[in-house]
Amino acid sequence: TQTLQTLEARDVHISFGGIRALSGVNMKLRRGVVFGLIGPNGAGKTTMVNVLSGFQRPTSGTVNLDGADASGIGPQKMARAGIGRSFQAARLFRDMTVEQNLMVAAFGAGLPAARAARAAHEILEWMGLAAAAGKRCDTLSYGDERRVSIARALALDPAFVLLDEPASGMNDAECDALMHTIAHLPARFGCGVLLIEHNMKVIMGVCDRVHVLDGGRSLAEGTPVEVQNDPTVRRAYLGEK
Ligand code: ATP
Repeated sequence: TQTLQTLEARDVHISFGGIRALSGVNMKLRRGVVFGLIGPNGAGKTTMVNVLSGFQRPTSGTVNLDGADASGIGPQKMARAGIGRSFQAARLFRDMTVEQNLMVAAFGAGLPAARAARAAHEILEWMGLAAAAGKRCDTLSYGDERRVSIARALALDPAFVLLDEPASGMNDAECDALMHTIAHLPARFGCGVLLIEHNMKVIMGVCDRVHVLDGGRSLAEGTPVEVQNDPTVRRAYLGEK
């Protein structure tokens, strides 16, 4: 288990050529907290996950692990420091088994073999995927594929797990079950969670805190109730006058 307590973005700016994907964003994730990240298409949500997981270096500003600057150390070192993530597309190794996918993630993050195997087993069991452990990923149903991509992010025994629209394409029942799982991640694995999700009702049900991005800028942050009642958010995001 990792000792990291906070993962933070400080005044992060990201430009892709002329496009400003993020303009001065601050956010702090804490262990034990489910943190929702919402905003319209192109708001910068995926870019934020890329920054926090070391896949994208900020143009300016920093990413901090327990306060220490970790900007630009890259995805592998971030994984070793305890940051796990999933992707919008599952990106599994399709010709490998479910269990092998988890093991690859765990080894990549530097877990010793025995611990990696134990972690993989526990996670698959807990997510109701134990029966799929030996199946090749290209034989999985769509819903199972999505769930395995989350299990893989958990396999490195992370302090923080960043989930980019994990429920996309799932039906209502699958989404409900997944959100129940996500809400219980802090209690079960002691980690902090960042959740990108479009459905406001879903976000309100599982998140302790919510941060709203719009056009690369922070619009609001607070408890789900605070954010839902924020007039700026209601105008910009919920389309109210
Ligand atoms: P969505 O809900 O559609 O996934 P998002 O909130 O995740 O959107 P991002 O994917 O972070 O938004 O994109 C933010 C902005 O940055 C968009 O204008 C996007 O076109 C741009 N962008 C993202 N990645 C790149 C890149 N690699 N090169 C150029 N522009 C990019």
